[in-house]
Amino acid sequence: MAVKRPPFAAANYLGHAVTYHCSNIKCGHYRKIPVSVLVHRYGEDLDMNDFERRLRCSKCGARDPRPIFSWLMNKEA
Ligand SMILES: [Zn+2]
Repeated sequence: MAVKRPPFAAANYLGHAVTYHCSNIKCGHYRKIPVSVLVHRYGEDLDMNDFERRLRCSKCGARDPRPIFSWLMNKEA
């Protein structure tokens, strides 16, 4: 029986990294996080949308960062 997960569950994005770009163009801060790190820390059912809403730019404090998903290179996984 297949486990049904919410569409934005972190487990669906394993093998990817997500780069959060600050919404403040003048700031330009970004941070790349392997999804496996998020799963390890918060569990497979972490909702990526919820997580994104909780984030704040560590540089300027802006909310609502723009996530960009990318494939992880093997050495980063
Ligand atoms: Zn910022």
